[in-house]
Amino acid sequence: MPTSTLPPKTLAFLEEVDRFGAHNYKPLPVVVERAEGVWVWDVEGRRYLDMLSAYSALNQGHRHPAIVQAAKEQLDRVTLTSRAFHNDQMGPFLKEVAEATGFAKVLPMNTGAEAVETAIKMVRKWAYQVKGIPEGKAEIVVCENNFHGRTTTIVSFSSEPQYRNGFGPFTPGFRMVPYGDVEAFRAAITPHTAGFLVEPIQGEGGVVVPPAGYLARTREICAERGIAFMADEIQTGLGRTGRLFCCDWEGVRPDVLIVGKALGGGIYPVSAAIADDEFMGVFRPGDHGSTFGGNPLAAAVGRASLRVILEERLAERAAELGAWFMEELRALDSPHVEEVRGKGLLIGVVIKASSGPARPFCEALMERGILAKETHEQVIRFAPPLVITREVLEEALLAIREVLAA
Ligand SMILES: *Cc1c(COP(=O)(O)O)cnc(C)c1O
Repeated sequence: MPTSTLPPKTLAFLEEVDRFGAHNYKPLPVVVERAEGVWVWDVEGRRYLDMLSAYSALNQGHRHPAIVQAAKEQLDRVTLTSRAFHNDQMGPFLKEVAEATGFAKVLPMNTGAEAVETAIKMVRKWAYQVKGIPEGKAEIVVCENNFHGRTTTIVSFSSEPQYRNGFGPFTPGFRMVPYGDVEAFRAAITPHTAGFLVEPIQGEGGVVVPPAGYLARTREICAERGIAFMADEIQTGLGRTGRLFCCDWEGVRPDVLIVGKALGGGIYPVSAAIADDEFMGVFRPGDHGSTFGGNPLAAAVGRASLRVILEERLAERAAELGAWFMEELRALDSPHVEEVRGKGLLIGVVIKASSGPARPFCEALMERGILAKETHEQVIRFAPPLVITREVLEEALLAIREVLAA
C-alpha cells in the first residue's frame, strides 16, 4: 500500500519506527494494539485474522487464557533466578518436555537460534568425545535453502546471499547439500561428518515439503554411519503440521530435537535442545549456558504452552483443518497460483512468476482483513493459530478467493 493512503494514526507509528528503528524488516503497514485468539485489532480499530501466527510462535492463539494465567501467577511469585540457583518451575518444565517428546534430557534456552547453536555445540563435542573425530575437524551437513536463525555461525551455512553478505568471516565446518535429495546427502558424508541438521519442512524457505521418505531415509543413513540427526522443529513442531512433530509423519526419531516458537505460547521466548544422555552428556558445568534460559517465568509459560497443545489436541486439529483447507485452496482455480503445498496448517501458496511477487497479494489480503506474509518472494504462507475454527477459515477463503481470482 502506498504510504500516502494510510490513515494518519497508522502513518505516525510507521514514521516513528522508520526514524528510530533499524531498517532490518519490511512489515505490512498495520499497527496492532490488541489481540485475542485468532484475531488482532489495529490502532484504527480494524479487526484482522492473523494467518501468520508470528511464524508459528502463536499455535495456541493470542493470549490463550491458560497460558496468560500461568504467566500472571508466575509474575507474582518469582521470574528470574539465573542458573546460578535452582527454581521450582524448571524441573517440572524439563520433565514435562522430556515426557512429551520421549527424550531423556532437555536443555532450555530462549530463542530458536540459541537452541540451534546449542545443538551444534552438543553434536560437535559429541563428535570429538564419543565418535573420536579429530579436534576441530567435525563437519555438519546442512541443506540448501535452510533457515535456522541469524547468528553469525548460523548464517555461515545459509544459502541465501542476503543473510550472509557483509557479515563474514564465517564459521567453518558446514557442508551444504540440496534439500530433499537422499543421494546427495549420502555423497556428502566423510569420515569427519558429525551431524545432519535439517528442517522437516522448510518454512522460511517457502514451505518446501521434501519428497516422501526423505526424512526416514536420511535418518536411517545417519543411524548406519553414526551421524547425529538433528531436526529443527522450531517452526514445524508442536502441532503445526498435524502431528506433535513433523518428523512423526515418517516415524523418525531424531538424535537431537530442536524446538522454540510455540513452546513460549506467544507470550515469552522459550526454546530447547532435546536429546538422550549420549548427546546431552557431553555438557559439563561451564560449557554452555544462558542467563535467561530455564528461568521460572519461561518455564511456567512453557509448561502451560505445552499443556494447551496436548490437552486441546491442536495437532489433530491442524491435521483435520489443514487437509480440508489445502484442498479448498487447490480448488480455487486461480490464474495466479502455481502450486499449493504444505502439511497441516503450514501451507504455502506459490504465485506464478508471470503474476509478479506475492507481496501485493498479501497487501490485498490485508485490505480484506487477513494478515499473511510473503516468504521468498513468490510464496504466501498461511499458518493461522491452530485454535482456528472451520467457520473462520471458510470466511477467510471468501477473501482469499477474491484476491487470487482477480
Ligand atoms: C524461526 C526459526 C528459527 C529461529 O528462531 P528465532 O527464535 O527467530 O531465533 C530457527 N529455525 C527455524 C526452522 C525457524 O523457523
